[in-house]
Amino acid sequence: MPSGRFAPTPSGDLHLGNLRTALVAWLRARSLGGAFLVRLEDLDRGSVRPWFYGRQLDQLRAIGIDWDGPVLRQSERLDLYRAAIATLTEGGHIYPCYCTRREVLEAAVAPNGGLPPGGYPGTCRTLTSRQRAAFEAEGRRPALRVRAAGTRIGFDDRFCGWFDGTVDDFVVQRNDGTPAYNLAVVVDDVDQAVHEVVRGDDLLDSTPRQIHLARLLGLEPPEYAHIPLVLGPDGSRLAKRHGAVTLDDLQTLGASPAAVRGRLAESLGLVEPGEVGHDLDLDVLVRRFTFPRLPRRPLVLRSVAHAGQASSDRQGE
Ligand code: GLU
Repeated sequence: MPSGRFAPTPSGDLHLGNLRTALVAWLRARSLGGAFLVRLEDLDRGSVRPWFYGRQLDQLRAIGIDWDGPVLRQSERLDLYRAAIATLTEGGHIYPCYCTRREVLEAAVAPNGGLPPGGYPGTCRTLTSRQRAAFEAEGRRPALRVRAAGTRIGFDDRFCGWFDGTVDDFVVQRNDGTPAYNLAVVVDDVDQAVHEVVRGDDLLDSTPRQIHLARLLGLEPPEYAHIPLVLGPDGSRLAKRHGAVTLDDLQTLGASPAAVRGRLAESLGLVEPGEVGHDLDLDVLVRRFTFPRLPRRPLVLRSVAHAGQASSDRQGE
């Protein structure tokens, strides 16, 4: 059975952009008669807040998204990621990198020979064991990076078409021992038999890395479809600072979750002239859903109401 997924990081309430991507991923999976999975990507202990696990799931349910099977948490699957790191180590595919965050940033702004934005130019790729020992003696703890050295990987994105990119030596394990996003996502999508990943096109650039990693691990990567994001009025990626962008904010302003879903459906080109998105059942949206119907451009919110503004106005009365 085909299956899709949504994999949020529980670091905040889902905003309209997250909800729209989740809705597209869900509509796509259900329109193919497939399963839909939800996975919480909670490896980054610095940004994850436990109360958002339940809140994010409630927000998905509120707009009518359901899923099959238990919701996985990456923090409970560390053994799988460690096994993948061991496979990469045995294959000689990774090396320790002692660069500090600052050194990596400095290296990444230098001309980097066509690597992806922020791509790592391989500073620690050829360290001798003596140089490594010297870094260890300074108390530096290494991250682990893949020895990709500029491999080019192309793939046929089901929404964007052909895309290729150069793979840099990206991190698979952070220097605090935490498996990195690019490693965990590859392991999980294959382990969960996700056949097609639908997600925001901010991750298009990372996909050659993920396909490369899957191949090094001897895994068959899923298909990918990267869809345009929602942008705030200033043209930057939608964020909390733009105003009322979460279901809670919008409910405060009088918009029900069904109305929000209706607006998202309109923005996805799934509502016919004369119809109101709010009135359409989810099964109508599932029947109508196809990739060619979706707009090719990001959704730019022309204005975002400010829930806080309404209450501070009232305070001034
Ligand atoms: N957890 C990632 C995020 O919240 C999404 C990863 C993915 O869909 O591959 O941005």
